[in-house]
Amino acid sequence: MDFLPIFMNLKGRTCLVVGAGEVAFRKVSLLLEAGASVKVVAPEFHRDFTALYGIIRVHESFQAQHLTGVVLVIAATNDSATNERVSELANQMNIPVNVVDSPELCSFIVPSILDRAPLMVAFSTGGASPVLARMLRAKLETMIPQGYARLVSFCAKFRDDVKIRITESAGRRIFWENVLEGVVAEKVLAGDEAGAKKLFFTRLEQDYTATQGEVYLVGSGPGDPDLLTFRALRLMQKAEVVVYDNLVSKAILDMTRRDARRIFVGKERDNHSLPQEKINALLVSLAREGLRVVRLKGGDPFIFGRGGEEIETLSAQGIAFQVVPGVTAASGVSAYAGIPLTHRDYAQSVIFTTGHLKEGTLNLDWQSLSRPGQTVVIYMGLAALAEICRQLICHGLSADMPCAVVMNGTQPDQKVVTGTLENLAGKVSLAGLKSPSLIIVGEVVTLRDKLAWYR
Ligand code: SAH
Repeated sequence: MDFLPIFMNLKGRTCLVVGAGEVAFRKVSLLLEAGASVKVVAPEFHRDFTALYGIIRVHESFQAQHLTGVVLVIAATNDSATNERVSELANQMNIPVNVVDSPELCSFIVPSILDRAPLMVAFSTGGASPVLARMLRAKLETMIPQGYARLVSFCAKFRDDVKIRITESAGRRIFWENVLEGVVAEKVLAGDEAGAKKLFFTRLEQDYTATQGEVYLVGSGPGDPDLLTFRALRLMQKAEVVVYDNLVSKAILDMTRRDARRIFVGKERDNHSLPQEKINALLVSLAREGLRVVRLKGGDPFIFGRGGEEIETLSAQGIAFQVVPGVTAASGVSAYAGIPLTHRDYAQSVIFTTGHLKEGTLNLDWQSLSRPGQTVVIYMGLAALAEICRQLICHGLSADMPCAVVMNGTQPDQKVVTGTLENLAGKVSLAGLKSPSLIIVGEVVTLRDKLAWYR
């Protein structure tokens, strides 16, 4: 080990920064965040310093006496002779010293920081590659959500209550593991501290060793795994069981826990698939076994996803659950196809509707779908495409109205066919497009010629 990582309490203690340029400014800000009393020595100050209150400014060149009473010093000047002198004198006086970008002159180095105060994670490559340290930090940023700050404070608040109620330390560890892995922590992370507190004390009073099952209804977006939310990914890696259907891409499924049990519930028309009531019952029984279940859905669970029905059952059965929104097909697919859904010149509103046939017929409000100045996005409409186009023309849209069908949007095998209401159905059947496909109708489709960036 080249350096010992320590976290230093600087509250109210005097730290010196030599130099007052942009780099020095960042160091001063950092020290102020740690509650230090900061003295800055430099002949001239960068203009950023004008707005900085609560520091002591010394408009002089650095001299030995500036180190008197100082507990830590950072040199950030662009003059190497000054930097060396600061390092030498500080070392003589046993004051920890950091010289920016000169590891050989430092007695300590400043790590790259992931700040979820009171939780702090520090990264260092011992000065070898600060860029690498920053990249690692960015990776962890995605795994340790902002809410962890709240979670740590939450734990601190109730530590004593737990100590009083559970006297042996093994029991306390089990209790805390259950809290941190389960619904209580999830509630805190989601910002529902009151709900978390109530649950926390219920658990503490009752059987605190029992694990409680829960269900995460997660929108996994239209297919590209990069479009998952941080929360979706975190819960996917937490759940012991994954319940998914055909809209969830393999790339996304591969991001769930490796040892998780995967249950395919298929699509509705498929004989092997489970009817909705059976899916609802399955989620309840898995959660009752004490398992954490992620119910993965394509797109957003609340947009043509029957997510509402699934959680209605959970709620009625008293099972804890949470809902994670996803990028819905309309928004993901249109972005990857280069078709903005609204545009000041062409469309002031957008309608999402379903083109799913019920007993062979389509019962839509054609009048409102055929208004000018709007974009219509139709989910599940491929089988009825010809009928949809015919109805829109019948109800007043021009036969030349631009429209598009996008298959497997946001995925490497995305296919886009554009045309007019008159010729789209023919072109689409010629191109052999299949489900999942999304229909977009409106002038905005013409923008694709300029805005397509994906394929
Ligand atoms: N809850 C989902 C929609 C489920 S309905 C969401 O919010 O996106 C299923 C329909 O969504 C499909 O028939 C198709 O019209 C559309 N769809 C979903 N993913 C798609 C994709 N990657 N490309 C094109 N259409 C898609």
